[in-house]
Formats: sequence, structure tokens, C-alpha cells
Amino acid sequence: MIESLKIWQHHGRQFIFDVSQVNLPEVFRGRPLISNATIDEDAAADLCPTGAILPRPMRIDMGKCIFCGECAWAFPEKFKFVNDYKTATNDRQRLVIAEENHTAVTLNPELVRAEIKKYFGNSLKLRQVSAGGENSNEMELNACSNVNFDMSRFGIDWVASPRHADGIVITGAISENMAEPLKICYEAVAHPKIVILAGTEAISGGIFAGSPALNRSFLDTIRIDLYVPGNPVHPLTFINGVLEMMRRSGL
Ligand code: SF4
Repeated sequence: MIESLKIWQHHGRQFIFDVSQVNLPEVFRGRPLISNATIDEDAAADLCPTGAILPRPMRIDMGKCIFCGECAWAFPEKFKFVNDYKTATNDRQRLVIAEENHTAVTLNPELVRAEIKKYFGNSLKLRQVSAGGENSNEMELNACSNVNFDMSRFGIDWVASPRHADGIVITGAISENMAEPLKICYEAVAHPKIVILAGTEAISGGIFAGSPALNRSFLDTIRIDLYVPGNPVHPLTFINGVLEMMRRSGL
């Protein structure tokens, strides 16, 4: 008994008590900041491997950004990334960060569906679909349920079957081979259903955008409830985004 208590004390508190107030290390690349310094905007745009840098006016699209850091290394006077991890939103336009915009990314309350609270309340079951993912996002989403992040304490759980799910979380750029299985999985979830895109590849295709091996047409036919940027997503970004989505609907 004494030994068990010593081990318990040695481990300390492993879970993050307040997931909305975590101070991540400075090296974490979260929300981008763009200064008003004058640079060669075309050179910056050409440098970006995914077309996330948009010139005149200068912007970074977090839905396309793979957070490689190349822009911040090449133009440190212009670009930097801060450790703000609360970057999920339900409004695709809010992922586009403009020059001199230092405000936090938030959800658009007008786009949150009332059914989210009405039907799911404090319990949300999600089915994750890896639609051509490379496992990094999938691993981070798995980590949401580990002892550190402990997402289930908020009533959010992963389930194995879409029949048991309230919504799906899509990762990966959606390869041609996964387009039909993804649609079948979506259709197996009862109405109303939540759709979350987790990670840059799911949001825009990432470095695979425009590849003939992708078939992303399914996304044009459904409503997206939450965009979670990151490459891969951070568990705190995902959990805070989902919690905010539920709160904004009146929780
Ligand atoms: S960090 Fe993002 S915006 Fe900057 S070069 Fe990489 S992908 Fe482009």
C-alpha cells in the first residue's frame, strides 16, 4: 500500500486540469502573425510549398499551411508563429490570417447549428475516418483520449462504428480509393450529424492538393461544422475546438 502511494506521488498529476489555459513551449507553431514589414511578397508566396501564403494583401491560410516554418526562417521580420493552439473554427474564412491581425481565432456563432446542443448535449460520440491520412493526425487524435488530455471527461469519445456515432472526424487528403468508403461511413451516421475536418490535408489537401489521386468532391455535398488546422493537429486544438463548438451552441 505504502509503495503504491509512493508510486502515485512520484507520478504526480498527469492530466491537464484546464485544457483551455495551457502554456505550450515557444517552439510550438500555432497561430501565425504577419507584421507590416516590407518584403518581396511574390518571393514569399513562391517559397510556400502549399500556396498558403497569399500576397497583396499578405495573408496566411491556415487551412493550407503545413506549419513547416520556411516562411518564418526566410522572412523572420515578416512572419512568426506563436504558441496559441486555439485555432479551430467553423468558418473557413477565419483560418485566413491577415497582416497585422493579432486577434485570436474564434468560432462564428451564426454558423453553429442549434441541433448540436439539442441532440448531443454533454455527450458526443465521434467516428474517425482516415481518408488517405499518413497517421500523424490519427495519432494525435488518439492522444486526445490518453491520460494527459483525457477528452472523455468532457463527454467526447471515439466510437468504432458510425452507427454509434454522432458525427465523423475526417483526416487525410481524401484519396480516390477512400472517397466512396468515406461517403458510406457518413451516410451510416444518423441525422443530425457533425462533420469535422482535422488537419491541413483534410481541410485543403495540404501538400497533395490538386493531385489526380485525390477525390474531394464529397466535401462539396456536406456541411462542415468544424475546421481544425495543424499538420498534424494538436490534441489541445481539437479538444478546445469541439468544446467551443458545443459551448457556442448554448452549453
Ligand atoms: S509555415 Fe505555412 S505559410 Fe509558411 S512556408 Fe510553411 S506552409 Fe507556407
